[in-house]
Amino acid sequence: MRRLILAGGGHAHLFVLAALARRPLAGVEVVLVTPDPHQYYSGMLPGWISGHYTRDQCRIDLRPLTRAARGRLEIQRLVGMEADNRVVTFADGRTLDYDLLSLDTGSEVELSWLAAAGDKLLPARPLPRFFEAWPQQLAQARCIPGYRLLVVGGGAAGVELALAARHAFERERIDGRVILVTSESGPLNGHAKGARERIRRVLARAGIDVYEQRAAGTDQGVMLADGSQLPANCIIAAAGASAPPWLANTGLQLDEQGYVMVNEHHQSLSQPRVFAAGDVCARRDVTMARSGVHAVHAGPVLAANLRAALKGLPLRSYQPRRHSLYLLATGPRHAVASWGPISMEGKWVWYWKDHIDRSFIRRFSHDPA
Ligand SMILES: Cc1cc2nc3c(=O)[nH]c(=O)nc-3n(C[C@H](O)[C@H](O)[C@H](O)COP(=O)(O)OP(=O)(O)OC[C@H]3O[C@@H](n4cnc5c(N)ncnc54)[C@H](O)[C@@H]3O)c2cc1C
Repeated sequence: MRRLILAGGGHAHLFVLAALARRPLAGVEVVLVTPDPHQYYSGMLPGWISGHYTRDQCRIDLRPLTRAARGRLEIQRLVGMEADNRVVTFADGRTLDYDLLSLDTGSEVELSWLAAAGDKLLPARPLPRFFEAWPQQLAQARCIPGYRLLVVGGGAAGVELALAARHAFERERIDGRVILVTSESGPLNGHAKGARERIRRVLARAGIDVYEQRAAGTDQGVMLADGSQLPANCIIAAAGASAPPWLANTGLQLDEQGYVMVNEHHQSLSQPRVFAAGDVCARRDVTMARSGVHAVHAGPVLAANLRAALKGLPLRSYQPRRHSLYLLATGPRHAVASWGPISMEGKWVWYWKDHIDRSFIRRFSHDPA
């Protein structure tokens, strides 16, 4: 009996589990290692904050999916591995050896700049923690007149979280302000001019102040690059990703930021028995944004390659598309679409996004077999 360990219940591994449910691997023990029995879907987090979804609607229960894949679930966090000895270490100190390992454990929020803000910090991930903490922040906001919420991060996550929080404040008649702090490059850097202009208009309409400067945490809130202070009751940190520190001592080849280096087959450059997909990896041949889109699209290729690697068959390549579709919720049932040079907005975009997101959850919530 050989052993395939799937570390993390991330987007790509959902496809792997679904593929295993449809076509089980004979003679292979499948073990999913993840700290939470649910996989939370970041695409629906802004809609949950805005009050459009319940928490249960935004997550996939990994237990029935793992059962369908004839796998075993270990509710554990990986804290280390020895690639040369093909063994991983769990947070409770136990170890487990593998014949093939696949990593889809995501990334962390870069907090180093903001650390001095201490208790005021609310990192956008891990998502289970955010889902726990946000209702407490709302409860505080109801009690503190003039509550100030700062969102730091100008990417899709920061923009959506600021707009969702603004909508939540309005819905609950909270006397509070939402402030978005991006870097000098402004909101949605990397998206086309049209999409960026739309988002600026949406942010202005929602009454969100935008500061386009770098921010460093202080015990009162943040200090901007020009020296001005922005006091805050809470700071949502959604600026940039960082590699999980435990990867550093694994013996895997990493890039300069600490992500697992993989080839076009999503196979580790240094350990052919290790594969990785999603935010945790960096491709040798192309630069890919750390976004759910790539974690999702690489999933079916990863599923095929894990099977092929166990059977000694040729591996497939994941070719990222030139443009990725981003559907950004803006608070009420309205969204902005950004796809390469094209952008659109409206209620219909929200219903389109809603349909895609709900279908994604549904797809992995029923027995795929
Ligand atoms: C608010 C918000 C909005 C976003 N909006 C978009 C968007 O519109 N479009 C887009 O493309 N991207 C978006 N993103 C980014 C997207 O969420 C990530 O790129 C995506 O989740 C990465 O998927 P993943 O499979 O790599 O990891 P994740 O989805 O992060 O999954 C990682 C899994 O691994 C588990 N895990 C973590 N550490 C360990 C460990 N040590 N051991 C075992 N298991 C572990 C976790 O519990 C989780 O199950 C958004 C992010 C946020 C926060």
